[in-house]
Amino acid sequence: MNIEPESELPGPAPIRRLQESLINRIAAGEIIHRPASALKELLENSLDAGATTIRVTVKDGGLKLLQIQDNGSGIRQSDLPILAERFTTSKLSTFSDLTKLTTYGFRGEALASISHVAHLSVVTKTRTSTCAYKALYSDGKLVPAQRGQSEEPKPCAGNDGTTITIENLFFNTPTRLSALRNTSEEYARILDVLTKYAIHNPKVSFMCKKAGSSSPDLSTPSASTTRHAIKMLYGPSIEKDLLQIAVNEDMKGEISWSSEVYFTNVNYQAKKTVFLLFINSRLVESTRIKRAIENVYTGILPKGASPFVYLSLKIDPQSVDVNVHPTKKEVHFLNEEEITTQICDTLQAKIAEKSQSRVFEYQEEVSASSGPKKVYSHHKVRTSLHDRTLDSMFPVVNPSQIGKGSAESNPQPQSLPRSREVKESECFLTSVTTLRNQIVKGKHKLLTEILEKHTFVGIVDVDRCLSLIQYSTKLYLVNHGALAEELFYQLGLRHFGDFSRLKLEPPPSLRELVKIAVDAEEISGETSLSKPDIVDRIVNILHSRRSMLSEYFSLNISEDGLVQSLPLILRDYTPNLDKLPLFLMRLGPQVNWTSETECFESFLRELAYFYVPGPMISDPSIPTTMSKETDEDIAGSKAEIWQVQHILFPAMRRYLAAPKSLLDVDVVQVASLPDLYKVFERC
Ligand code: ADP
Ligand code: MG
Repeated sequence: MNIEPESELPGPAPIRRLQESLINRIAAGEIIHRPASALKELLENSLDAGATTIRVTVKDGGLKLLQIQDNGSGIRQSDLPILAERFTTSKLSTFSDLTKLTTYGFRGEALASISHVAHLSVVTKTRTSTCAYKALYSDGKLVPAQRGQSEEPKPCAGNDGTTITIENLFFNTPTRLSALRNTSEEYARILDVLTKYAIHNPKVSFMCKKAGSSSPDLSTPSASTTRHAIKMLYGPSIEKDLLQIAVNEDMKGEISWSSEVYFTNVNYQAKKTVFLLFINSRLVESTRIKRAIENVYTGILPKGASPFVYLSLKIDPQSVDVNVHPTKKEVHFLNEEEITTQICDTLQAKIAEKSQSRVFEYQEEVSASSGPKKVYSHHKVRTSLHDRTLDSMFPVVNPSQIGKGSAESNPQPQSLPRSREVKESECFLTSVTTLRNQIVKGKHKLLTEILEKHTFVGIVDVDRCLSLIQYSTKLYLVNHGALAEELFYQLGLRHFGDFSRLKLEPPPSLRELVKIAVDAEEISGETSLSKPDIVDRIVNILHSRRSMLSEYFSLNISEDGLVQSLPLILRDYTPNLDKLPLFLMRLGPQVNWTSETECFESFLRELAYFYVPGPMISDPSIPTTMSKETDEDIAGSKAEIWQVQHILFPAMRRYLAAPKSLLDVDVVQVASLPDLYKVFERC
């Protein structure tokens, strides 16, 4: 017999059911291709959760670590057990929802997928929960942190919002991992996704940095605008060439859509087309739309030059076909061709119009603004920023410069000090960013506008810090001391870590200064400490924090206890140094030295208080010559008046984001021109 062994027969391989975990891993790979695609899903979740700040930390191009922290709604503790199961989502419950959904993710697959190909952990806190919870996931399920422990989410400390940490991405899919060995390319892709979302969400602050690095590679402010975001992220030169259109169609009952496009004109020439397409706020790709837009530019731009185009399209969610691609990246939608054509036509017309009429633009704008609208005389604003004030007709001299030679011997009128822009220092401490954001949040729009556009009328009372300003047809009495205090606080935050130094020559002794102030204080019964003890304590506190004070605030105290320099907040403005002892003394008890955010805030508040113009509140217990005005005092108060008008008010105009709290007592409307007009008409 000649029977061949069975094993050598060529036959079909048996069909085996794939292991569940393998299926999941393959499915995950369709959604999460690389770190940037994981990040995109997580970003969308954070934005869905209403986050206004999003911080991303990356190690090894996201393969080792990809962490995203948001301040969004957080996830309820009770939802944590099923969070990473497939098809769990808070965004949809029936099939018809699928077609209506306008939030970004909608199939509940992202976190599940990630948990199959990486170590996933979540720390989250809702506004109403008293603490945060930490949960770890693997293969879609909760797992314990260590063997033998419970997998239940553990309570822990944390801020409102969610932090999602992905470690060792693709650790169990070695082929994919080896395909992604170039970590700097992966990092570049991560930055690219973030840049695009930052442009689409200018109100949200984004930050991205490599783990261990102190400086971020991308950082955007909150409450910005699209135009500003584009300028920040694609370079300032793009701005002058940036055009903008809005195209939409609103037919009753019919499918309606709207779009907004920011795009460059003929003068802008990039090497490669930059095309950002958002449909219903999701970053997507559409080769067809991209090609149509590129066609508009061929023939307009020289060969080899390419445009920048950001297109945000809002369409009825029902008309988007989401099932085209598992990542919902390449999309198709109803009436795609017509919509594309309309947008492209409008874009082309705008480019053509702008390149022909550039010369006339100026005239056009002028005539548009001085339109035919009649302004009644009692509504006319009778003064403007460009008007001269009385004393501007005399040579203006900064009194603090008198005696330094130049002013008196110089017959020409001195020009006003040209104020240099005070740039916000780069600072990535969460505490400082939080404080800076608080200013933006607390800003009262109208009050800020009044201060920004006001005309200075005059100082009413130097000692009580009262001045008059006019805005539009109204006259306001303001407490410039209170305004200045807020201004100096905000400028202090602006300069954080980057103050110029105001050198003290010769440097006075810290101990002596503090002693002067403590001696002048009335010690209340609350403390059992003697005055020398108090001086000791304060000096010790400040001395032991010398390096921090110097680094962040340029307040230099030498090893042997001499105050060498103070932070300079505003050029050409020197604080009243009589208040220095009080300032240094107050730093002891008034500053909260234990918590970072509060420490910076209270220090800057004290610094602002020190900087406020005006004499020290006279204290009868201080045996000075204050009661009698010496020549020096008079010169001092002249210098102060000068500083208030020429340095302080202009700085308020530029930098003060006035909080509402100032409105109640420190800014009062005293007259309105239309009302005064009525009075005079009758005369
Ligand atoms: P999907 O976004 O498609 O619903 P995901 O797997 O991405 O699915 O997320 C599952 C669910 O987890 C979401 O529906 C949402 O309720 C919750 N979630 C995920 N990330 C966040 C976050 N950063 N903040 C609040 N909730 C979140
Ligand atoms: Mg999602």
